[in-house]
Amino acid sequence: MSTTPLIGPYDGASVRLWEAEPGRLAVEDRGTGSRGAGWVEPLGLVGSTAAVRLSTSAVASDGAVAELLTSVVDQVRAAGADRLVLETDDEDRERVLGGAAARTDALDVILVPPLRIANSLGRQVERFVPLVPGRVGMYSCGPTVYSYAHLGNLVAYVFADTLKRALQWRGFDVRHVINITDVGHLLADADQGEDKVEEASRREGRSVGEITGAYTRAYWDDLSSLHVRFPDEWPKASAYVAEMINFAAVLEQHGYAYRIPSGLYFDTARQDGYGELAGIDTSGQRETGRVEAVEGKRRSSDFALWRTFTDGRERLMHWESPWGVGAPGWHLECSVMSISLLGSHFDIHTGGVDHRELHHVNEIAQSEAYLEDGRRWVTYWVHNEFLNVKGAKMAKSEGGILRLADLVALGVHPLAYRYLLLSSHYGSQLEFTEKIAQSAHVALKRLALRLRAALGTAAGGEGLEEPVTLAEALDDASVLGSGLLRERLLALDAAMVDDLQTPTVTALVNEWSRDPDALPPAEWEVLVRAANTLTGLSLGVLAPADFVPPLPAEVDVAWVEDRLAEREAARASREWPMADRLRDELTAAGIRVEDTPEGSHWYYAGPATGS
Ligand SMILES: [Zn+2]
Repeated sequence: MSTTPLIGPYDGASVRLWEAEPGRLAVEDRGTGSRGAGWVEPLGLVGSTAAVRLSTSAVASDGAVAELLTSVVDQVRAAGADRLVLETDDEDRERVLGGAAARTDALDVILVPPLRIANSLGRQVERFVPLVPGRVGMYSCGPTVYSYAHLGNLVAYVFADTLKRALQWRGFDVRHVINITDVGHLLADADQGEDKVEEASRREGRSVGEITGAYTRAYWDDLSSLHVRFPDEWPKASAYVAEMINFAAVLEQHGYAYRIPSGLYFDTARQDGYGELAGIDTSGQRETGRVEAVEGKRRSSDFALWRTFTDGRERLMHWESPWGVGAPGWHLECSVMSISLLGSHFDIHTGGVDHRELHHVNEIAQSEAYLEDGRRWVTYWVHNEFLNVKGAKMAKSEGGILRLADLVALGVHPLAYRYLLLSSHYGSQLEFTEKIAQSAHVALKRLALRLRAALGTAAGGEGLEEPVTLAEALDDASVLGSGLLRERLLALDAAMVDDLQTPTVTALVNEWSRDPDALPPAEWEVLVRAANTLTGLSLGVLAPADFVPPLPAEVDVAWVEDRLAEREAARASREWPMADRLRDELTAAGIRVEDTPEGSHWYYAGPATGS
């Protein structure tokens, strides 16, 4: 993007534009005299394609909208653009298009919908508008590093990464923080009891540092395998205890907290809007929180800001504080680390839907009490649904959990798990079985190989994984002169910005991959690069060898593939005894074959035990 200003102040008969803050022009509607009736954010120029975001829904007259658009089109044209990607509110698209139509002889105007996301605050899908033009502050609740992450735990990070990818695709500069909880998270998310990390340290006979170090590295390995782009910061809770004590002291000074023998507690009665995020009715249902027998606690919804250790039991992690030796409350960590790294207010807070009812409610309560500025602390709260096993959330306490490494041992490519998650909307629960994961592996393999063929010699190139923005991709499409490519880029974009309809994105790419001749390889390159930006699936880069499961040296892959091909042929001609014989031969060699709806999947399971 060029840095020369695309659009400057404008003084017209019906509207006036002035630079209200860096990167954003405010609109005055002269008819109504309303200042700030809308806004214009010029994003810049890439090649000969300009990108502008605007909102005119509060501009009263169509004449004023038309004059505003004429000014925008003329200024963009004067800056050297041939085309304009114009993002605007759904409700004023018609008027904006009408306004721009007067000048479309001068410029190719491509109207695109805004990025919309389901906000748990208010339970509505809303247009995303950041606090600071062009910039996004985003915080995701991170793992408690006391054991390996299971597949269900990883859903939240693939989701946050997908949201980040959509924002970056739309040209936002995203600053992302994921915390590492290495202290303060108690068993059963409670205010009393043992710290999860300390319990793991005792159980495994390793120091707290060894435990948190090892499980943090394992978590990072999993995210890397899933192509989750790392955040800008990975704060560790134990490094922020001094800030947490200061934060809690401010809450106590301002009358939001009370002391009892077991620590400092937040007084939820002091918060008018307590529980709004969870949809808790504050008049009568404040008691919906977990009821714990804590002496002196006034309400069950009140929660520990600081836990003072009074039982004389030895703790591995403890700090001095005004409330005695102890440790911070779990909810406090996220408020303190996010405000420290993203500022008092930021745009997006993500997490699993389980956090919507308690952890995030308490983060909001203490943060808004701490800031006391009458503003919402965070604008958008976005929650992902669970991964289910046999109808219930995959959870350590329920058993039946699998790690990403377990899937890999079953011959499933880690990105097949990402593909599986993207095949479902983040706001829907996803039923997981090993067979579904194996199906996803076969489906991803087929898609990846079809796209390799479509790309021809361009396949495997590093450029295929370079992130791209919508404006860049549309500019590339215009250079190649293809209307079909543009149409497809806009279809991917429309699905992605509509509250992350990733199932539509994967379905579209699958559908297109079945007709490789529809686009020449150079255009496939632009399309696949856009798809990779949005999905992180390394399409066109994954090669047949990537889908071969981990095997001991003695297994001859070519021999296995030959037997499988013969078995496929036997099945196709309904020669069942022959197909069974081939399968037995493979089983004897330690190869397990699973037939999924997407096709056969094989992996090395070790020599048959003769059961
Ligand atoms: Zn959190």
